[in-house]
Amino acid sequence: MARQIDDQTCRLYATDYCDMLNMPSCNECFVNGPNAEPGRVMEDLDVLRDLMPQEGIAHLFMDNGCKFCKADPPNVRDGYALLDMGHKEPARMKRSALFIKTKARIGSMLPVQISTCADCRKRFQRLEYLPILMPLGVAVLMMILLSIPAIVDPLTRIHMIMSFAIFAGAVIVSVLLGKIIQKNMRKKYARVMRLDPFEIPTLHNMRQNGWFLLGANGKLIFTKKRMRMGVGTGAPEDAFVAQHTS
Ligand SMILES: [Zn+2]
Repeated sequence: MARQIDDQTCRLYATDYCDMLNMPSCNECFVNGPNAEPGRVMEDLDVLRDLMPQEGIAHLFMDNGCKFCKADPPNVRDGYALLDMGHKEPARMKRSALFIKTKARIGSMLPVQISTCADCRKRFQRLEYLPILMPLGVAVLMMILLSIPAIVDPLTRIHMIMSFAIFAGAVIVSVLLGKIIQKNMRKKYARVMRLDPFEIPTLHNMRQNGWFLLGANGKLIFTKKRMRMGVGTGAPEDAFVAQHTS
């Protein structure tokens, strides 16, 4: 996708800062906004550039092969896994509600998109939903069973609380069972795929360089289309500088 870069008055015009931001057009770019501080944006991008892995992160979503597959060659990409990485640099001070200045935990944020095959995505999703869906399924099944008079009446005759005790017991057992099955699945899946994104060499290098996962336990989000704008989303084909200087 060709980017509409036409504002030659912009301080970032035809620089690799502009390519790093990877905005689709000058109109949509925040450097054009009324409160923009191009100088500060450039400073922040300088810091970010130093924090990026040498090989860049574009290959994580440009490569056709799944980055989670351990097989060689890996399965073909079917979509992308997204996660947000954070870094404490560039250091910023933030003011808390009590006007105490503290160092912000996050200076930089980088969305990372990773080529993922259908098999790996399904395995991630099964691991995530099994511990929720299994107890839910058991609860529904028990509610149906315990609404049948032929089952519930003899139980009530033993004790008023009997049917509830059986319901609660079944749900608790299914929660524990779900955890055990999940653990075994993880073991099985780990033979064919990388369950921890940091096993991917580029992400491993980033962690060594101070990057950490942001968001709910670093949960992966799966999409079919990749993000096309913002820092970290640019592919070599999106580069304005290279296209206009060669
Ligand atoms: Zn895969």
